[in-house]
Amino acid sequence: MKTFVHRGQITKVVFGSGTRSRIPEEADALGCRRVLILCTPGQWDQAAEIRDLLGATAVGTFAEAAPHTPVEITEKAVGYAGSVDADSVLAIGGGSTIGLGKAIAVRTGLPQLALPTTYAGSEMTPILGETESGRKTTRRLPEVLLKTVVYDVDLTLTLPVGISAVSGVNAMAHAVEALYAQDRDPVAFLMAGEALDSLTRSLPAIALHPDDGEARADALYGAWLAATCLGTVGMALHHKVCHVLGGTFGLPHAETHTVVLPHVVAYNGSAAPEAMARIAYALARDDAASGLFDFAGRLGAPRALRDLGMPESGIERAADLIVRDGYWNPRPVERTAVRALLTRAWAGETP
Ligand code: NAD
Repeated sequence: MKTFVHRGQITKVVFGSGTRSRIPEEADALGCRRVLILCTPGQWDQAAEIRDLLGATAVGTFAEAAPHTPVEITEKAVGYAGSVDADSVLAIGGGSTIGLGKAIAVRTGLPQLALPTTYAGSEMTPILGETESGRKTTRRLPEVLLKTVVYDVDLTLTLPVGISAVSGVNAMAHAVEALYAQDRDPVAFLMAGEALDSLTRSLPAIALHPDDGEARADALYGAWLAATCLGTVGMALHHKVCHVLGGTFGLPHAETHTVVLPHVVAYNGSAAPEAMARIAYALARDDAASGLFDFAGRLGAPRALRDLGMPESGIERAADLIVRDGYWNPRPVERTAVRALLTRAWAGETP
């Protein structure tokens, strides 16, 4: 008999094509009368379309969202939100923009909505990562959970092929670690497996035809499921390694996840056989770790940390930081083995 605890999600999710047209009614349903729109400089046009849809309900656009949620940008955005008397925030973009919305919410209590445009999945989690003086910290805070997330497949059609691949593997990493999470439950396991099936099916199709609407819908569906896993069960060694590498060497988020994932799966292989079998099934391969490594190659994604700008001399420091704080992983986190993992990932060797 199974014994488990399952945490449900409070976020309302709307999914489909053209669903951004529902933003005015979703904002209204939350009682939002003065919406502040958030985006990166590069997504100004997508944000402008939503601003037009909202009409007078949109009281401003803050277009300075940046990776890893720098506190100085958050403080500027909070000041702007106050100056336009915003009563809510709407993030249009990927994890960087959604992270800014969460950082504003935790300081002001403003309710949040989002239109996610990547597969990173921050919109479904109570996790807030922030960077101050070059140091990134992560907290789990129920108050940063979004009220409403509107997934519109159409908005993902413009996501460049290279970013789609790594962002999709970033989503796969949430599902992989949910399969062997300490607090996994049958529902999270089902969602994680379905997420992997969707993403392994759709990402190669997107690499060939970025405007394939069905493949884009499949990928976004998988990303939502994976994000829900990230929000409901605890992550392990993979997310710890990526957090350390991103924070210490400024490596790009999704690319780092893509390089590291096969190596952590190899590390955890013998300690999590049920998870390995499910990953291998999704990839239609016998071995999960080499299957993931080949999958990244098929997408044309990076497979070596050195290609992302990590210095070889950083391996020792990263190994120290990864083993420093005790945390749960299916296989104990041992420095010698972690160092070997990093060395292979750095050089782009098979896991
Ligand atoms: P991102 O949000 O930085 O987006 C990458 C780039 O792609 C940006 O320049 C963006 O403007 C552009 N872009 C996004 N969608 C586009 C589209 N549809 N068309 C064209 N361009 C588009 O990258 P990301 O990988 O989504 O997010 C990474 C950040 O999110 C990191 O800071 C990471 O730590 C954080 N994150 C947080 C959580 C969480 O639960 N807190 C989860 C995942 C990621």
